[in-house]
Amino acid sequence: MKIKKGDMVKIMAGKDRGKTGKVTKVIPSEEKIIVEGMNIKKKHIRPKKQGQKGHTAQISAPFYASNAMIICSSCGKTTRTGYKLEGEKKIRVCKKCGGVA
Ligand SMILES: [Zn+2]
Repeated sequence: MKIKKGDMVKIMAGKDRGKTGKVTKVIPSEEKIIVEGMNIKKKHIRPKKQGQKGHTAQISAPFYASNAMIICSSCGKTTRTGYKLEGEKKIRVCKKCGGVA
């Protein structure tokens, strides 16, 4: 998974196509991500105690990471990324500007 928590991504498919948002969670085992405010689903919350009312909450549902592109933090464009080694550290770089993505 190239996308990491905290990345800004652009949604490339589905009803939120063209929007940008921040990744709040990555699920590597399913290759899915959760992006703040994207792929909103209504979820019914059951009452916790008897006599309380249930309600619906809007949650950001996970979707496939392949439907999102990383926005480079150096040039601000959607980009494909590569990696390079800087000493012991592997850093993610932008294929457009060569900066740290
Ligand atoms: Zn860039």
